[in-house]
This record gives sequence, structure tokens and C-alpha cells, in this order.
Amino acid sequence: MSILVLKLPDVKRKSEERPKECPYCDGETFQCWGRVKKPVKDLHLRTTWVYRYRCCRCGRTFRHYPAGVSRADQTERLRAYAVICWRLGLSFRGVCTILSGIQVGLSAMTVWRDAQEQGERLGRWNQWKPVRVLGVDGAWVLGWGEKRPVMVAVDLGAGQPVAVGYVEEHDLRAVREWLSPLAQRLGVSVIVTDDLALYRSVAQQLNLEHQVCQFHVRRWVGRCLRELQQRLPQEWYWVLEEVQELMENLPPEGDRRRHALWKQVIIPGGRHPGLVTPLTQLRDLLLRLAEAWEDYCAFYTDPDIPWTNNGTEQVIGRMKMRARTVRGYKNWAGMQTGLMLAGTTLD
Ligand SMILES: [Zn+2]
Repeated sequence: MSILVLKLPDVKRKSEERPKECPYCDGETFQCWGRVKKPVKDLHLRTTWVYRYRCCRCGRTFRHYPAGVSRADQTERLRAYAVICWRLGLSFRGVCTILSGIQVGLSAMTVWRDAQEQGERLGRWNQWKPVRVLGVDGAWVLGWGEKRPVMVAVDLGAGQPVAVGYVEEHDLRAVREWLSPLAQRLGVSVIVTDDLALYRSVAQQLNLEHQVCQFHVRRWVGRCLRELQQRLPQEWYWVLEEVQELMENLPPEGDRRRHALWKQVIIPGGRHPGLVTPLTQLRDLLLRLAEAWEDYCAFYTDPDIPWTNNGTEQVIGRMKMRARTVRGYKNWAGMQTGLMLAGTTLD
């Protein structure tokens, strides 16, 4: 059995080394100028020693804080701990209650601010790491009063979110404008999405490879087939069976077989525009599948490409779970960093 050990920043009671440089000038030599006891909020320490130094070059004095300590009341360790408690499922008030049990008094507002800060840092850091395979999906998340549409981009190699955008999933232009700079900056070469035609256009326009999540495809194709089975004349059942088999095995040459099937499905008396029959629906289904086949099978050509968008859905699931304990984000920036933080795994 493996035990997950929480990695928290170290906090020192006093600094073990002298300052390396003056915060005001390039000065590198200092005179010790006394020390003060600083009370801190922390998991283990109650006080730390802060030394003051005087720069021999510019003559100014400054405080030299020990590792994990800053001007703030709470240490880096406590900040990290509180944010982790929130990410594991507690509300901001819940975190305060837990901390009060070890005699640490922290306000919900402080925990919220620390979470925001950590989320921002995470966002900045993630923005510059190269990502080859990007999962993209839309979601509705509770934010300032009502449910808001967001788009989430996930590094499917690392399973971590890289961006959250305030974009409606059905708006082609908005999706493209959001995705384009992101794909460029991160060096993305493949996107994995669900089966909306919009994503196919975006992938083509941005010159990206595209994999359609097979869970989504199977779901809607399965629904279509069940429906057709009830309404189609029995003589066409063999086509349904063949489609079923193709979906299960996803052979790379599936598009040709589908095209061949499509040709065999003859509509008696020809097709009348506007007239929808089970047979025309079957033909449309075959055509749609043949056209999109390449996007279903990109994962064959590259072991880095997953065949579902599961990684993205997991990140969105974490975001939604955390959104429930936030009473509503006050603005978009707050919501964005909150979601980023909530979507990131702890390890
Ligand atoms: Zn100086």
C-alpha cells in the first residue's frame, strides 16, 4: 500500500544564512541591526525570529525573513495547507473550523485570498509549459449568481488544466479565437474533443490534428442505431449490425467500408428533398461517420493521443465539485483562478 505524503513548504524558526543582496541596491555586505520576535500563524510554530540588517552600500535597513515566512501573519506552510484542505472538499469556512481545532485562527477571506494567489501562480506557470495533446471541452459552472459557460483546456499528457475561458461551446468564432493563441503558445499539435462538428472546423482552421472522443461517438451512434432498429424495415438490419461492428473495432479503413455501405443503401424511388425516412436517416448516419472517420482514428497513428477525452472530463469534474463549495465567484478573474486550482491534482 502506498501512502501519499503531503509536501508542504518548510518553515524555519530563524534564518540560517545572511541575506545575499540588498532589496534596494546591489549591496552585498550588511551589518546586523538587531532582531525582532515575530508571531506567526503556522501548523507547528508560534513565533519566529526576524533579523534586521543595514546595507553598507545604501545605508537602508530591511528585514530578513526565515524560509517560509513573510510580512503576512500566516506562513507559507499554513497557506499551502489551508488551500489543500479546500481542494480536498472543505468550504472556506470549513477550513477555518479545521484550523481552529489546532488553535490557528484564520479568516475565510484569508484562505480565499491565498487560494486565489496560488491559482494565479499556477496559471502563470502552466501557460508556458509545452503541451502536445490538448483536451478541450465545454462546461457549465456556477459563477456570480448563475450557471456560466466555460471552456476548459487540459494537458492530456499531465492530466492538468492549462486554461479556462469564458467561452460558449457552440460559438465557432469565440472558440477559435480562444483556442488559437493558446495552441500557438503551447505548441499544441493535437486536440481531443467530443463530437461537435464545430471542433472539426476549428481543428482544420488551426491546422491541428483532431481526435474525437470515442465515448461520445459510441453514445450517439448507439442511440441512433437503437432508434433505427425500431423503425427500419428488417431487410436493412444487416447494415445496422455492420455499423455496430465497425464502431466496436474501429478499423483504420472504416471510412471506405462505410462509404461502400452508404452506396448500398438505396432509397426506393430516389430521395425527396425534405422527406425524412428511416432509410434517409441511415444514409445520413453512414455519410457522417465516413466523413469523420479520420478524426475517430487519429489515436492509431500516435501513442500519445488518447482515444477518449476522459482526462478532460476528470478535470471538469473536479472543478464542478469545488464550485459547489464556493458561494459564487465575485468576478470572472476570481472564477478562472478558482477553477484552475480546483482542477489541478495534488500530486
Ligand atoms: Zn543597499
